[in-house]
Amino acid sequence: MNLPGLYIHIPFCKTKCPYCHFYSTTDISSVDVFIVSIIREMALYADAFDTFDTVYIGGGTPSLLTIHQLDSIISGVHKHFDVPPNAEITIEVNPADGDLAWYRSLKSLGVNRLHLGVQSFSDQALTFLGRRHRSDDAFAALDNTVHAGFDNFGLDLIYGVPGQNLQSWRESLASAVSLSPPHLSAYQLAIEEDTPLCHSYRCGSFDIPDEDASLAFFLETSAYLERSGYHHYEVSNYAASPSQRSRHNQKYWDHTPYLGLGPGAHSFKEGRRWWNHRSIEGYLKDLAEGTAPVAGDETLTRDDLRLETLFMSLRTAAGIDVAAFCLQFGENLPEIHPSIIQSLVDGGLIVFKDGRISPTTRGLAVADQLALIF
Ligand code: SF4
Repeated sequence: MNLPGLYIHIPFCKTKCPYCHFYSTTDISSVDVFIVSIIREMALYADAFDTFDTVYIGGGTPSLLTIHQLDSIISGVHKHFDVPPNAEITIEVNPADGDLAWYRSLKSLGVNRLHLGVQSFSDQALTFLGRRHRSDDAFAALDNTVHAGFDNFGLDLIYGVPGQNLQSWRESLASAVSLSPPHLSAYQLAIEEDTPLCHSYRCGSFDIPDEDASLAFFLETSAYLERSGYHHYEVSNYAASPSQRSRHNQKYWDHTPYLGLGPGAHSFKEGRRWWNHRSIEGYLKDLAEGTAPVAGDETLTRDDLRLETLFMSLRTAAGIDVAAFCLQFGENLPEIHPSIIQSLVDGGLIVFKDGRISPTTRGLAVADQLALIF
């Protein structure tokens, strides 16, 4: 049985990026009371969760916090839960924040993995995305990461930004690869409902790549990074070696339990999923009254779990373990769906080998549709 993972959501940002749908506020007046509250929230779950072998501090912008504030949060984790010495402890960093001393202090807190929100090495794309850093900041952040002694770190990149073509995207990939990050995540720019970007898109202010162009970006990203020595192990994720994959994200993909703390965070355990208030006010109010700040929950049925297992497995290059799936859901997929599997193999979307149904790169591009076929 895999150990659970802990996610901590820091709901503060200096400015809001117009494409972002994550919960955060630019009002940082409640940071100190938030820190007291999240430690209170840890105490509420100390009986339900013993040990975490991954801790992921995301947001929002965790790098807005001082080392003292981050120390309080990490000390709270160690006070309420067991975290073994080999645990993966990740923090998201905005390249606009922190100097070398700050990065070194992060390391002294026990953080051993950084996730840098670079998004692009093109200043034009960064301006469109409303990011508060520029490409020079990204290079400086990578420099600080290495000089502080982090050997496990990853970069986030976004493609499909208006004005970008395959050639300029390749240049961003080349810049990223030149810095030898052990991990890379590449996401297509998504137009999320109720974001400023969505409003301007609906007003016709810009175009986004159509389906063919999106596929071309996806395939080019995969081919470029595979040629550069990275393994495309999940739809949006690439690692230089198996040990440098995100151990924390793996828990979301294989139904390992996880606890999410902070406004809007989701948790999962024993088939139940629950989520916190997506507002700092509601979150702080419940914790001030000594109750868990839970806004809602659902218990997944067997059919829900089956579909999620298909969805999440087919988003990874490892794919579905046919025997394990059969044991859990009583369905031997190759026996029940031989013609579907054959047509997907013939179409170059999956490979059926060594007891696994695994998506090809083209299959990863349409992973969510693949799951619905079974
Ligand atoms: S910094 Fe990150 S979390 Fe904050 S608004 Fe931008 S994308 Fe969203």
